[in-house]
Amino acid sequence: MLVFNIQHFSTHDGPGIRTVIFLKGCPLNCAWCHNPEGKGFAPELSFDSARCIGCGKCRVCPNGAHMFDGNSHRIDRTKCTACGECAKICPAGALELVGKEYTVSELLAEAAKDSVFYGNDGGVTISGGEPFAQFDGLLELLKALRAAGINTAVETSGFTSPEKLTAAAEYTDLFLYDCKLTDEELSRKYTGVGFALSAGLPLLDKLGARVVLRCPIIPGVNDDSRHINEIAGLCEKHGCITSAELEPYHPLGLRKYAAVGRSAAYTYDKRLDESRLSALLDELGKLTAKPVYTNN
Ligand code: SF4
Ligand code: SF4
Repeated sequence: MLVFNIQHFSTHDGPGIRTVIFLKGCPLNCAWCHNPEGKGFAPELSFDSARCIGCGKCRVCPNGAHMFDGNSHRIDRTKCTACGECAKICPAGALELVGKEYTVSELLAEAAKDSVFYGNDGGVTISGGEPFAQFDGLLELLKALRAAGINTAVETSGFTSPEKLTAAAEYTDLFLYDCKLTDEELSRKYTGVGFALSAGLPLLDKLGARVVLRCPIIPGVNDDSRHINEIAGLCEKHGCITSAELEPYHPLGLRKYAAVGRSAAYTYDKRLDESRLSALLDELGKLTAKPVYTNN
């Protein structure tokens, strides 16, 4: 599996203390994505220009991708083959090859580093990117975690087939199911995919799955009563949903776009206002009997 990050001792992605494995590659293109380095399906070079000390050691590049002009240092990404040689030699940590292949056994070994802290609630969360985009590996990993007695959570946009969702559900203790937008037209505009993101919920109802509905709240996009009403409607309609989490937008991902040579489509540079978040939580709490909270 191609992995772009492994977070140990996480308390933000599912219950208890967890190891979070971020699989690289996503078929969606959410305008506000705060992990742009997880979008592509291949390893890529990240360059943090603020860390660069201008030593020129990255001229080791066999393709001449590093271009220097006075104090300016840029990367010609059309020449970069992501071999990682420059990242190995950079003394300042300005270069990083994002995306590394792991076997299931290697990922189990990563989980083992944290397992003593899992307790009753913790375990492994498989996130992304979109984990279902690497379905064969995802399923194999879920089976191995279940066999090892480790609690499993999968964070997904739901962008997969009913067959794959059914197969994964057998080995998944909890889905962290993204509810970005429920309107087809807005979904197409802001995620690049025009489909009902809630389409998998009826199936998860039937399968008896447990779901936390995770709702990114994006200023000017979905921070409104209409969206809150739709979230409440999903909570009331689907027995699989155990709770709903509002995730306030933050701009921390913006600086990562330049590092991986992408441009951000949504450039609002402030967090969602605390008072707006509280108001939306109150509103949602009045519309559904399911627990609602933020993991802010
Ligand atoms: S090796 Fe690292 S610090 Fe040196 S010029 Fe290249 S990116 Fe900058
Ligand atoms: S990753 Fe390899 S090809 Fe890309 S810039 Fe660095 S040395 Fe050159």
